[in-house]
Amino acid sequence: MPPNELELILAARLRALPKASQRQFLSLYNNCPGKHPFSNTFKTNALPCGAGSVVGGVYPTICLINHNCIPNSHNNWDSNAEHETIYAIRPIKTGEEVTISYDYGGTSTVRRAFLKEAFGFDCNCRECSRPSELQASDSRRLLIQDLDNAIGDPFRMQIRPKESLSDCHSLLQVFQEEYDGYAGALIARLYYDAFQVGIAHGDQARASVFAERAYEARVICEGEDSPETQRVKSLALKPANHISFGLCSMM
Ligand SMILES: [Zn+2]
Repeated sequence: MPPNELELILAARLRALPKASQRQFLSLYNNCPGKHPFSNTFKTNALPCGAGSVVGGVYPTICLINHNCIPNSHNNWDSNAEHETIYAIRPIKTGEEVTISYDYGGTSTVRRAFLKEAFGFDCNCRECSRPSELQASDSRRLLIQDLDNAIGDPFRMQIRPKESLSDCHSLLQVFQEEYDGYAGALIARLYYDAFQVGIAHGDQARASVFAERAYEARVICEGEDSPETQRVKSLALKPANHISFGLCSMM
């Protein structure tokens, strides 16, 4: 949407809000001050209403949560409840800051450049503040990208499922190392990928175990009631209900 158009829409929405809410919105950080203050404040703070959604939401409290490259919490749009949720994905000590991840991974250079460009800050999280360990972390992040790409290759998954599952196992180990055993939604997605390999080859027993683990990881990140948690739970109970069940054995 052109900035001028979004500015007018947001101005009208803001006018309709109580004064206290207007003040809350205007107190949020704006990464591009100057022209279009409403739309730039919105772009700096809005969280997408679902993965890849072009619709975003701004929240008075959640938008104050800072970024960390190894976050202790996970944010998710719950489409059933129609609100954003925040779940702790690792133990949080009293007084410790609650953090989420604003970035999409990659090496420290890539992450930090993205965070500077999109949000206007230099990341000084624990991960980025340990130059002696950054090289090892960067190597793990690159390995994560490579394994992720290999696992996401549908052709390879069809003809060499054992290799895909072996990559899932390797990726799990790298996640555990990079995220100190608390990789949150990344673990849920990984087990779901493994589930898809199993289900495509008609291996119900293994697929059910992977879906169960994906479900357990989703509960931690999004809660029992989230639509994705419920979807994965039903697949753990009846893996054959998945649209790709036995796809490869029929080819
Ligand atoms: Zn960082």
